[in-house]
Formats: sequence, structure tokens, C-alpha cells
Amino acid sequence: MRTIEHWIAGKPTRGVSDRTAPVFNPASGQQQAEVVLADATDVESAIAAARDAFPDWSQTSISRRTKVLFAFREIVNRRASELAEAITDEHGKVLSDALGEVQRGLEVVEFACGIPTLLKGDYSDQVSTDVDTWSFREPLGVCAGITPFNFPAMVPMWMFPVAIACGNTFVLKPSERDPSASLLIAEMWQEAGLPDGVFNVVHGDKVAVDTILDSPDVAAVSFVGSTPIARYIHERGSATGKRVQALGGAKNHAIVLPDADMDFAAEHLAAAAFGSAGERCMAISAAVAVGDAGDRVVAAVNERARSVVVGSGRDDSSEMGPVVTRQAQERIVGLIDSGERQGASIEVDGRGYTVPGFEDGFFVGPTVIDRVSTEMDVYTEEIFGPVLSVVRTETVDDAIALINANPYGNGTAIFTNSGEAARRFQRGVHVGMIGINVPVPVPMAYYSFGGWKDSLFGDKHVHGPEGVSFYTRAKVVTARWPHSSHASDASFHFPTSK
Ligand code: NAD
Repeated sequence: MRTIEHWIAGKPTRGVSDRTAPVFNPASGQQQAEVVLADATDVESAIAAARDAFPDWSQTSISRRTKVLFAFREIVNRRASELAEAITDEHGKVLSDALGEVQRGLEVVEFACGIPTLLKGDYSDQVSTDVDTWSFREPLGVCAGITPFNFPAMVPMWMFPVAIACGNTFVLKPSERDPSASLLIAEMWQEAGLPDGVFNVVHGDKVAVDTILDSPDVAAVSFVGSTPIARYIHERGSATGKRVQALGGAKNHAIVLPDADMDFAAEHLAAAAFGSAGERCMAISAAVAVGDAGDRVVAAVNERARSVVVGSGRDDSSEMGPVVTRQAQERIVGLIDSGERQGASIEVDGRGYTVPGFEDGFFVGPTVIDRVSTEMDVYTEEIFGPVLSVVRTETVDDAIALINANPYGNGTAIFTNSGEAARRFQRGVHVGMIGINVPVPVPMAYYSFGGWKDSLFGDKHVHGPEGVSFYTRAKVVTARWPHSSHASDASFHFPTSK
């Protein structure tokens, strides 16, 4: 059995903990490896490696840091299929989707390659007589990333390229369910010439996370995962004085107005609900059909849901793979059962789905549930599976009110041909990322990614300008160079400009 180890100070490390967790291939349902689970000593070694690497890396010139980032970009590009295969084998998503995730992560690396421009400060000449002021930003120190299973490459890549480009060092604690991608990334950094200790990986569970949160040597924590854990990370990390950005779960709605192109809307709804088996924080899990759009969109989505090709992520013909674990499969099926019990209409039923040759795989077929009400568990729970619930409302304002009453605020979309309705929606919804005829509106790397309400704890979004701001702190210098002809203007009153 292959053992997946930590990566500390530039090499694979078994650590002292003897705890491990199984890593499955979700398509076959078989265990394929075990991952070591760090105890506090292992995490402290990774943090110490990052702390020791910080003085040199933070003093390395911007142009040398940029060269390492460009080299890293080339290597990730060259080894993208290797990374995608590791993702598919442990997460289950289809290979083209895994390659798409690597591509979106790479865009953050490309953004971070622009760090010379991003770190330019401000300068004001002669703010007072013979006095100038300028500002610049410095790195924080050791930054940590704690990441979810659903994007084992892209979500860590939302964080570390920017953190490292800014001159910080990094400890990544990836999901224990699909840990291999993070080690490939560590090897790629080393090949790119990143000094040992600047990027470290520790595998583990709550023990590892709590050690990071309590460490006085960690300056900032970026977290992405479910809402209860995000809230916990924000509270515990903030209590020890760290900067914390903690992105949580989601319930993303897409409004369908009667004037929308129904075929276009149904195609895109199906892709947004069933792509990656619904295990995307920006997946659409609730369609809000307004007025007579309801029957038309449900008929079109049902047809598309029935035609989705489900199979192993390694099979090129598959459009959708399995979900990540047996527990996830059972939880999703249990929620579909609850929808049926609570009176919703199961239009397309993905329960009991089997794929020939992969009978033990963790598959759930695409599922469409109509006439869902906001009290039902399928609406209140984040299902995180290939299940689209349809809620019906009378007007677009009712639909906006419904979205605003939901505790999450990650992403949302509208399908319409009315610019007026789209603008009302865009301005009225309390959600961080909005799509207009774009169902999965994940911002490009040079914008920042983040939700509102229970989808984000902390005030900075990831990557883009807010990422640079999160991983640095500002200094403002006020200076003058007196010369002998100047009379001294020292005074005991508070300094004001002249
Ligand atoms: P999760 O919250 O179970 O795990 C996330 C991380 O937290 C993992 O590294 C895990 O090891 C760690 N963790 C788990 N339980 C912990 C505990 N009790 N104490 C401390 N650490 C703990 O999430 P997941 O199941 O891996 O990922 C799916 C979730 O992530 C969904 O809710 C999804 O919406 C969310 N997500 C959100 C975004 C976003 O951008 N907002 C992006 C991707 C995923």
C-alpha cells in the first residue's frame, strides 16, 4: 500500500505520528493508498521549516521571486496532465474537469507573476515643506492554507502563489481525502528553484488544523471548506491574533425568467448542477423558476439530466464521475429520500445508480427534484452532490427575496433576456459572485473570489487584489532631509503640515 507523506523543508517526510487515513479511488470504491495524519510535532516541524525560510525568502528581490514563479508556471503547464490524473484518481471528477481545475489554478500563478506591478507602492512629494511620504507593503511571515477535497489543486493555488510571490512562506494542510496533488505541486516548486522550506505540506485532520491555529509562528490562515468549520477556523485563528479568511459552504441559486432561452438555460443549468458531480462550491443546486418558466425549464432539464454520461473519470466519454466517498454517496441518497418523504417530486432519480465494471464505485446519478419548498431538507442542506432542486415563485422580486433569505451568499445567476431584470437582480441580491446568463461565475484570477454571509468569515476575498492585500501589511514612511539653512521647527504641539 502506497503511503502519502508530508513535504517538509524540501523533502518527503514520514513524521512521528503513526496515525493514517485511507485514500480511496471513488470510481472503483477501493482503497489505493494511505495518508499519514500529522500530530502536533509534525505540524510544528513544518511551521519551523517555514519560519526558518522566511528571513531569506522575504529579502529575496522581487525580480528573483518573479523568476521562480515564471519557472513554476512552465512546470505546472508541462505536468498538468500528471496533476489532473492524480486528482481524478482520488477525487473522482472526469479528467477534462480536473485539467480545467489545474488551468484555473494556473491563472492565479500567472496573476502572481505580475507581483512587481502588484506590490508597487504610492509616493507623495512635498506633503509638507521638504517632507515626502510613501507607502509599501511587506510580507507577513508564515501563512497557512487549509483546503477542501473538491479542488485539490485549484483551491490551494488560490492561496500560495500570491502568498509566496509577496515574500511569505507557506504551510499547506490539504484535504486528507485527495492528498496527492499537493505533493506533486511541492515537487514542481522545488524544480522551479523555490528554496526549501518556503512551501511545505502537512497532511492531517483536526489535530493538524488546531496546531496551525494555535501556533504563535503562523501569521495568517486561509481556509476553504464547509461553513461550520470555516466559522470555527475564523474564531479560533482570530483569538490567537492571526489574519483569517475562511470561505464556507454554499447554496447557489439560478433564477430562470419566462423570457429566457429555455434550451440555453436548461443546458447550462444541467452543466452547473451535475458537472463534477455537483461537488463545486459554485455548483447550482437550486433553480428558481419564475411564473410559467417552471414547466418548460423542468421538462428541458429532465431531458438533459437523463442523457448525462456517468462513469469513471478516466473514461474519456464520461461527463460526470462518482462522488468522493461512500459516506458522501449515502448522505446524498438520504437527502433525496427526505425530499420524497417531504412531498417534493423526484423527476429524475439518481439513487441506486451503477456503472458497469464499477459496481463498487461511489456513484449517484443526476437527480432533478421539482416543487421543492424552502422548509425541505433538500433546500436547507448543502447537498454537495448531483442534485438540482427546483423552487417555483411568481415574480422576479419573490425570487430575489428567496435568495436573500438564504443564509449562504456564495454565487448566484439569472437566465433572462431582460437587461432591466438582470440589473435589478445584480443590484438586489446579497451574494458575492453574480452571473448573468453565466451559471458558474467564478471570477478570473485578477479579480477576487469570495462570497457573503455564511459563505465567508473574515473580510478579504482570495486571490486578485484582495489576496495581495491579505498576504501583506502596509508601511507608510514620512521623511525629510534637513539642511543647515533650515531653522529648527521642532514644537511640542501635534505636527501639522506647512
Ligand atoms: P470540510 O470543511 O470538511 O474540510 C475542509 C478542511 O477542513 C479539510 O482540510 C479538513 O481536513 C479540515 N477539517 C475538517 N473537519 C475539521 C474539524 N472538525 N476541525 C478542523 N479542521 C477540519 O470541507 P470538505 O468536505 O473538504 O469540502 C466541501 C465543502 O467546502 C463544501 O461545504 C463546499 O461548499 C466548501 N467549499 C467552499 C468553497 C468556497 O469558495 N466558498 C470552495 C470549495 C469548497
